[in-house]
Amino acid sequence: MRHDIRDMLTLHSPSGYEVLMVDYVTNCLDKMRVPYDVCHDGTIYAIYPGRPLLSAHMDTVCERPPELIVNNDMIMGRDCCIGADDKCGVWITLNTLQQRSDLSFIFSVNEEIGQSLTNLPLTRYANDICYALVLDRCGKQDLIGRYNGYNTGDLGRAIQAITDYHPATGVYSDADILSGQGIPCVNLSVGYYGHHTRQEYLDKRVMVYSLRRVARILDVLGDRYFQRVSDMSDMSEDYLWDYGGIIRGYYT
Ligand SMILES: [Zn+2]
Repeated sequence: MRHDIRDMLTLHSPSGYEVLMVDYVTNCLDKMRVPYDVCHDGTIYAIYPGRPLLSAHMDTVCERPPELIVNNDMIMGRDCCIGADDKCGVWITLNTLQQRSDLSFIFSVNEEIGQSLTNLPLTRYANDICYALVLDRCGKQDLIGRYNGYNTGDLGRAIQAITDYHPATGVYSDADILSGQGIPCVNLSVGYYGHHTRQEYLDKRVMVYSLRRVARILDVLGDRYFQRVSDMSDMSEDYLWDYGGIIRGYYT
């Protein structure tokens, strides 16, 4: 089963009303025989101590179900946002789980309004999650990590050494919540562009390429344990601003 991203894009899933996506993702997991739990808000997850975690969000900022225009590997909407942010990340996570069903994962809700992961027992597991890959960055090559305080540097360097991801800064994502619990993480580009606008589009080649990069990261890093993000107090706001700044209240 290769999941067709267009099936997901046509499911309307604004924040707080992700039920169509929750049904879609749980159906896929059932077919793949991947076990999971669902929080009462719709967050779908499985956490295995000692394993890496993948994370993507199911809600979008779309005003209505998109009418898709497909041009070879490019998918856009007819004057509408298509919700490729973050259905590209959901697609990569589902396809990865198809090959590796024993990974930890989270499909979150309410990310676009800054209220995701509120019902997860993260504190209980934070020390046992070796690292997290958040799949929710636009473009092709960004690795948002240390400059956003998502890891202490060791995880980002390890990923840069084996992929063509480059360090960047970015705005709010589930990586802020995960790293806030001490879990070292990165937010990686997954192939969507112009998110939150009516010009949003996705490049399937970049999405598929990102799936391969995630596989390589998991192959090479395996269950390696990275330094906890428990104390970022040595990173001043000035230091962070030097690398492009943090924009609060704006969500990817
Ligand atoms: Zn996003």
